[in-house]
Amino acid sequence: MKGNIRVFCRFRPLGKREQENGDIPVLHKADAFSVDLQRPAPHNDSRRFEFDAVFSSDSSQEEVFGDCQDLVQSAVDGYNVTIFAYGQTGAGKTHTMYGTSENPGLAPRAIESLFRVIRREEGQGRKSFSVKAYMIELYKQDIIDLLVEARPKDQKSLQDAGRGIMFVEGVSERPITSPEQLKAVLAEGERRRHTAATAMNSSSSRSHLLLSIIVEAAVKDTEQVIYGKITLCDLAGSERPKKSEVSGEALKEAIEINKSLTALGDVIEALSKGSKTIPYRNHKLTMLMQDSLGGSAKTLMFVNCSPASSNSEESMMSLKWATRAK
Ligand code: ADP
Ligand code: MG
Repeated sequence: MKGNIRVFCRFRPLGKREQENGDIPVLHKADAFSVDLQRPAPHNDSRRFEFDAVFSSDSSQEEVFGDCQDLVQSAVDGYNVTIFAYGQTGAGKTHTMYGTSENPGLAPRAIESLFRVIRREEGQGRKSFSVKAYMIELYKQDIIDLLVEARPKDQKSLQDAGRGIMFVEGVSERPITSPEQLKAVLAEGERRRHTAATAMNSSSSRSHLLLSIIVEAAVKDTEQVIYGKITLCDLAGSERPKKSEVSGEALKEAIEINKSLTALGDVIEALSKGSKTIPYRNHKLTMLMQDSLGGSAKTLMFVNCSPASSNSEESMMSLKWATRAK
């Protein structure tokens, strides 16, 4: 760990189709902090990558959340926290960040945990809390509010609140009073994201999804208000453009995704090197995440990988991208 940035690697099991196609696993957890990538022919080589934690194909959602739980307390204590997932489409980002109803991932677990922490602290009688959430999608350069019914053609714009803090003008913030309500909001945003992608003839894996949960704690004695925020970000797939995507919308999407992920990598690298200037302004994605990356903010990045031999080049790219933060 460098400063407030932690990087975790997680690779999923081989899928059924991959097994049928003769894929073999090329990622192997060497110890709690390292993973080996054994590239097949023509490379026939092995490379080791080190992280703050490595979760292999048999790691459970519960186990993964166990290592992130402290971040919920940090948000309640007034920190800005970001958890995001990086990796090619199909690598397990959404599984890690959201999961399914039978096998919930980080977001639903963090939501449950957040309300447990809040109830406990409220029980001590010194603070009262209010929670709000907003959910946006960044598709190419467009910021789309996922919590409004009509999808207005005009996207939301970014405004500068001073001191480098950007906010999304007019974004719908929902007051939240229970974990169930917050989960319903999440499902609503997820549904709208899916519908929007289909309407644009795209896939939701081609946009970035950001869910922000704002926690305000009013301290009764001092009348001070402490603000914390948890941002959960399911990034667009990091894969290189396919040969079929040489023109049109798909290529435009691919170029924009590449720009945004490069900008994010540059910011993280600058932060981990302790650079004086951090290049937040290079992309809307990094501007959107600015208040939750760097400064006193705590960041946890997952690099999700497919273990399949046919994906070994993409896994190599992802692992290399992630080690820039180290
Ligand atoms: P991404 O969001 O990166 O495109 P997904 O999260 O949708 O990838 O995962 C692709 C597929 O692999 C899904 O069917 C998902 O259920 C499965 N999967 C991902 N991670 C795991 C895991 N750790 N264990 C079991 N299945 C997984
Ligand atoms: Mg996904």
